[in-house]
Amino acid sequence: MPERFVEASEIERDAMTEPPRISRPVPAEAIAALKAVVGPSGYIDQAADMIGYCKSWRDDWFGKTPLVLRPQSTEEVAQIVKICAAQGIGIVPQGGNTGLTGAGQPRDDMTDVVLSTARMKAIRGVDTVNDTITVEAGVVLKEIQNAADGVDRLFPLSLGAEGSCQIGGNISTNAGGVQVLRYGNTRALVLGLEVVLPDGRVWNGLRGLRKDNTGYDMKQLFIGGEGTLGVITAAVLRLFPKPTASETAWIAVDNPEKGVALLGHMQRSMGDAVSAFELICRPIIDFLLSGVPGHEDPMPEPHPWYVLMNVTGQGAPGSLHEPLSEALAAAFEQGLLRDAQIAASGAQAAKLWKMRESLAEAQVAAGGSIAHDVSVPVSRIPEFIARADAALAAAYPGIRHCAFGHVGDGNMHYNPVRPVTTSWENFRVERGRINRIVHDLVVELGGSISAEHGVGRSRLAELAHYKSPVELDMFRAMKRALDPQGIMNPGKAVPM
Ligand SMILES: Cc1cc2nc3c(=O)[nH]c(=O)nc-3n(C[C@H](O)[C@H](O)[C@H](O)COP(=O)(O)OP(=O)(O)OC[C@H]3O[C@@H](n4cnc5c(N)ncnc54)[C@H](O)[C@@H]3O)c2cc1C
Repeated sequence: MPERFVEASEIERDAMTEPPRISRPVPAEAIAALKAVVGPSGYIDQAADMIGYCKSWRDDWFGKTPLVLRPQSTEEVAQIVKICAAQGIGIVPQGGNTGLTGAGQPRDDMTDVVLSTARMKAIRGVDTVNDTITVEAGVVLKEIQNAADGVDRLFPLSLGAEGSCQIGGNISTNAGGVQVLRYGNTRALVLGLEVVLPDGRVWNGLRGLRKDNTGYDMKQLFIGGEGTLGVITAAVLRLFPKPTASETAWIAVDNPEKGVALLGHMQRSMGDAVSAFELICRPIIDFLLSGVPGHEDPMPEPHPWYVLMNVTGQGAPGSLHEPLSEALAAAFEQGLLRDAQIAASGAQAAKLWKMRESLAEAQVAAGGSIAHDVSVPVSRIPEFIARADAALAAAYPGIRHCAFGHVGDGNMHYNPVRPVTTSWENFRVERGRINRIVHDLVVELGGSISAEHGVGRSRLAELAHYKSPVELDMFRAMKRALDPQGIMNPGKAVPM
């Protein structure tokens, strides 16, 4: 690849992620005081043991810290934050560290401590009349789903990393996942929060209310705030009736136009029973089948695009099978689909969803991709994919197209994979230029450059580029109002 393509925004990115330096290094007496707060089992200070806290899930962001703190209570978090505030020490809140934007790692100069919520694992209460569950920030998402299931309820947030991501991280990234279509993203699932503010005060907003019109709704600032405004320590979450009927279908379609038309058809036929609707291109299925063990092609013939769909409801088990078959048959008659299979068992459905959850590994196996987590109005998804594919093919002959995502929400993971003849090192330096081609198109189509993964460090320069000066001013005003010293997750999410 030509040298000149080493892109500007990579350089801008480095400049923008250099926040004003606060204190360097973290003073020894502060480290001793912080250790005293959590006791010997509540911190890690050996470099080898801190590696997992300092690098990102995709191995694309690294940092260094003198100390990882693992408090067990809100009170300990508050004491930690007070010490850091007094000394101007950066704090990086961290949950399961599965985030994909470089938001959860410290900077590289030992000026930040990492505050892991991994030991804040209590489920404080379940109210099956109010349909709420109150949990601490470090509870793993899967454990919340299981706890809800145990009282015959559903906590609908569901995503590939659910076995390791924590609810504090889910809230701080306003995570989306596969059931947004029916239940909304994390923002729609949170009723109340408890937060340690950047000066160490505790805000108890743990209200289980569906209506509360008493002025500014402060919790909304911390949802999706990526740890830049405070440390979330607990949350009240909404529960839902557990579906008693569920069907999963794997459907072959000609192209994204047909996929989007099929979505409309299914929603008109089955209403909000359509709880998940994922569009998946064939190339990534090929990457999966050749590179990740344990998967098999669900259909005998390959097809250019697929939809993975769930329908769920409250009827008798199996009661959705017939309406689903009829709706799919009508779609076939209308030329909206090529072939469709309804999973014959829960195990088969789980296998199909396992394929969907393994698509991140498939890209790694294919040699590495440049990720875009974008949204456009659902009606414009086909145009977006066609134009992005054409523009990238012209700029990078041999680039391998790879798009999949939560099409029901207009959210695509558009992740072109390097040409087989180009090394990853030569491809990755193109990131900024590729981002610009894709994001210019997204913005032209009225979309967002980050649909569900957030901003972190990887989208910071892009945010500064695309947001209006007015909106950026509001971001900065909010950050300065709550965190005037800039100690909360410095250098992430807010271009200062
Ligand atoms: C295989 C895979 C699939 C994924 N699929 C999806 C998907 O479908 N949809 C989606 O939205 N995301 C997805 N993600 C991204 C990721 O899982 C989510 O962003 C998740 O919500 C992060 O949770 P975490 O606990 O790992 O947070 P972390 O990665 O630890 O942190 C993420 C951000 O939240 C902040 N933070 C963490 N805890 C707190 C706290 N208690 N208080 C304040 N700030 C905090 C961190 O500082 C950081 O800014 C996926 C990731 C992987 C690896």
